[in-house]
Amino acid sequence: MIVAHTKQELADQIAEWRHHDEHVALVPTMGNLHAGHISLVELAREHAERVIVSIFVNPTQFGEGEDYEDYPRTLERDKRRLKTTAADMIFAPDVDTMYPFGIDNATIVSVPGLTENFCGAIRPGHFDGVTSVVARLLAMVQPDVAIFGQKDYQQQLVIRRMAEDLSLPTGIITGETIRDDDGLAMSSRNAYLSDEERALAPALYETLSSVGQELQSGQRNFEDLEATALKRLADAGFNIDYFSIRRALNLEIPDRDCDDLVVLVAAHLGSARLIDNVVVTI
Ligand code: AMP
Repeated sequence: MIVAHTKQELADQIAEWRHHDEHVALVPTMGNLHAGHISLVELAREHAERVIVSIFVNPTQFGEGEDYEDYPRTLERDKRRLKTTAADMIFAPDVDTMYPFGIDNATIVSVPGLTENFCGAIRPGHFDGVTSVVARLLAMVQPDVAIFGQKDYQQQLVIRRMAEDLSLPTGIITGETIRDDDGLAMSSRNAYLSDEERALAPALYETLSSVGQELQSGQRNFEDLEATALKRLADAGFNIDYFSIRRALNLEIPDRDCDDLVVLVAAHLGSARLIDNVVVTI
């Protein structure tokens, strides 16, 4: 496993691959890798001969009082984990490499509209941090494709919009959400759950799934469905940021005839903030 820390190490290796006409895929992560990340690596390999996994806990996407300092940094374990996968290289830059002019003087890439609701409203500045770091990674790696998880549904929409709006030459691919056996979407932040909270956590996906089934079977009273789900989750002990049925294409409020829907949820269980979604195509 090649580990690059600097832009030069990264560029030298990519130049060699490009010299052999190999395609390059990038899987951006914040590390503490789990099976969800690994599935994106395997998907990346289906699109390119070479796969780079970036591991960078990006300070600009964390708000004040969020878990930037506490976020698990497990590079040695991540290296071991990736050895048995399709990944060819880890790119693990430090903050100065990603933000050479300092965080306060960094160029910001900002996608309006799509970022105004949901996680964008609850975490002001979060998506500016995400798009700013992803734009930098795409500029450094210049991959043919970059892979993102459906688990962060709004994020992958925002990144698709950025790439399209800036005519970036990288194809954006979304990989399905990988779940534990009881349905809980895998996440680095699941580690913050106590045993008791972990036992409650599957209610999130159960609630999403039952709303998804209702939609699939033709139920169209979105407000009723949302209200019932909110109550169910609150009763189960979740502190809910949002639970919402929207158009999958652009997160706009759907009308009754809409045939592309996504059900989005973000909720706290103790100190863990969990997000998840299901897409319903009718
Ligand atoms: P993170 O390291 O949490 O920033 O996530 C890096 C990438 O992995 C993002 O594109 C996420 O959407 C994706 N991801 C996170 N959890 C999962 C999961 N359970 N299944 C699939 N992809 C995931």
